[in-house]
Amino acid sequence: MKNPKAKPVKQACAAIKPDGSPCSATPQQGKIFCFFHDPKKAEERRDAQVRGGEGNRALPLPIDAPDFNAETVADLRPLFLATINQVRRRELSPNAATAISNLANGLVKTFEDRDSRQRLRELDESGVTRRSGRNAAAPR
Ligand SMILES: [Zn+2]
Repeated sequence: MKNPKAKPVKQACAAIKPDGSPCSATPQQGKIFCFFHDPKKAEERRDAQVRGGEGNRALPLPIDAPDFNAETVADLRPLFLATINQVRRRELSPNAATAISNLANGLVKTFEDRDSRQRLRELDESGVTRRSGRNAAAPR
């Protein structure tokens, strides 16, 4: 006697793999293909791949983003704040934010170099570094 509600024998995916062997994955409910071989799922798979790579995807800055200029460390504050918020809103990839942070830190080093050269120049002009001996730092 047959039971019409009996589950059919479990079948494997109908697809043939590139090496010629049959796919052994379980087909999706009511279908003959597994998720990976379902031709209708191609778009869904692409979307899933895009989502998977989203964390590292480099989102470009908007083309009309104005140039950012900074001459002091304090000038960088708005850049850091904007970058933090762009990452939080997912407008900018974490990788791009890391690049911005590294470049800004590089810029800070150029500020430090510029400022220490400026201090040396000022000391040189005041004559302090040219003198030697016990009166080197004596007031005039
Ligand atoms: Zn399959």
